[in-house]
Amino acid sequence: MSSQITALPLSSLVRQLQAGEIRSVETTTAFLDSIQAQDSTLGAFVHVDREYALKQAAEIDARRASGDDIGPLAGVPVAVKDVICERGQPATCASKMLKGFIPPYDATVVTNLKRAGAVLIGRTNMDEFAMGSSGENSAVFPTRNPWDTERIPGGSSSGSAVAVAARMAPVSLGSDTGGSIRQPAGLCGIVGLKPTYGRVSRYGLIAYASSLDQIGPFATDVAGAALLLEAIAGHDERDSTSVNRPVPNYSATVDQPLAGLRIGVPVEHFAEGLDPEVEQAVRNALNVYKSLGAELKDVHLPHSKYAIATYYLIATSEASSNLARYDGVHYGHRAGEFGSLVEMYEASRGEGFGDEVKRRIMLGVFALSAGYADKYYTKALQVRRLIRSDFDMAFQGVDVIAGPVTPTAAFKLGEKTSDPLSMYLSDIYTISANLAGIPGISIPCGFTQAGLPIGLQLQAAPFEEERLLRVARMHERETDWHSRVPAQVK
Ligand code: GLN
Repeated sequence: MSSQITALPLSSLVRQLQAGEIRSVETTTAFLDSIQAQDSTLGAFVHVDREYALKQAAEIDARRASGDDIGPLAGVPVAVKDVICERGQPATCASKMLKGFIPPYDATVVTNLKRAGAVLIGRTNMDEFAMGSSGENSAVFPTRNPWDTERIPGGSSSGSAVAVAARMAPVSLGSDTGGSIRQPAGLCGIVGLKPTYGRVSRYGLIAYASSLDQIGPFATDVAGAALLLEAIAGHDERDSTSVNRPVPNYSATVDQPLAGLRIGVPVEHFAEGLDPEVEQAVRNALNVYKSLGAELKDVHLPHSKYAIATYYLIATSEASSNLARYDGVHYGHRAGEFGSLVEMYEASRGEGFGDEVKRRIMLGVFALSAGYADKYYTKALQVRRLIRSDFDMAFQGVDVIAGPVTPTAAFKLGEKTSDPLSMYLSDIYTISANLAGIPGISIPCGFTQAGLPIGLQLQAAPFEEERLLRVARMHERETDWHSRVPAQVK
């Protein structure tokens, strides 16, 4: 019974819970058991409090029994990335710097999940402060890909992706600053969506690069992502960058195909560096759309070649400012031994931050420094504007843009840790959506000969999540990639 529960996509789980065919305690227990069985190998969770999860589940069951109105996700376990604050639960960003930090408040997305009746099942592992593409920058332990445990799951939302891919949670939340939802979703064979900047509140999301960060859902299918996005999206007075426009009923329309669909194929995303097996799977997906009557048109994103460079100036500049608060006084780890105040700062930050975080702070401080800011930071802002204009132009002639999520399938642990640039290049197709603020979704579209998942990325104009989900669903309906599940990991 319990393995059947963990196999259910979110929409079926919700239906069975609502119909009283299964209870939340039973459901939550099934996922907790899956965590217990697999996670000592996979390393997707940094904190699971079994009693706390079961208590929430029992409360929902009791409220359902008494006829209360308990919300659209009532009784559904949801795993949350360790960068999102949840009152009374540790939030460490997988960093030594925040070890022992217990937020006294809920992020707005967590408030929304609680209101929807969700059961918060655990905190997921990640690259430290969401900086990384492999999960290996976690200061706790690396996360492993359930399709091949010698390989990385992608990052930085490594644990949230693996939790869902290995059926340790039906859905989860991640954050995406340059690809951190879409890239691990692609490498783990699940669905991951980065909403438009401003669609979901960032209140309670521990900041990495505030003008790029956005929270979004992971699920095993498109309908699941629609349902979870619906629960977390919306205006929030506590986040002045959240946008005040109504949240469409994504789950109600997701099954409606689009007639006369025009798909843009970005020439720049099919160039040098794209693995032939990945390219083939993506082209097969494009052919699926063609067979459904869609028109495929080449589009150009001429400034996308500057996206990585632009991102690593803007994101690191913002990070150097956001991470200044961890000084051992206001926030974060304080060194045990120090002399002067300055030495205290140095020792605390030196001990608390890992190498990649330090590298980025140094780069950001440099890019913002007097005499260099115009040359680097301001220049990067100008290029960012051009990247957005490329998309605006492209979307005048097409409804969505489709291409690969990553240049290759999952690589081996350790393969890129000593070469930051090659690590950064794994986000080459995802990063420009964050710079432009547009939504993007990754959906499964095939496997390599070696059995590793391949993702298709769809992008749309700002606030077109509804269209994105419907287009994604059209492909899902014609294929069965999303129903493949990795073997149980021991
Ligand atoms: N991999 C990118 C980075 O290392 C993106 C991270 C993210 O989206 N949080 O910064």
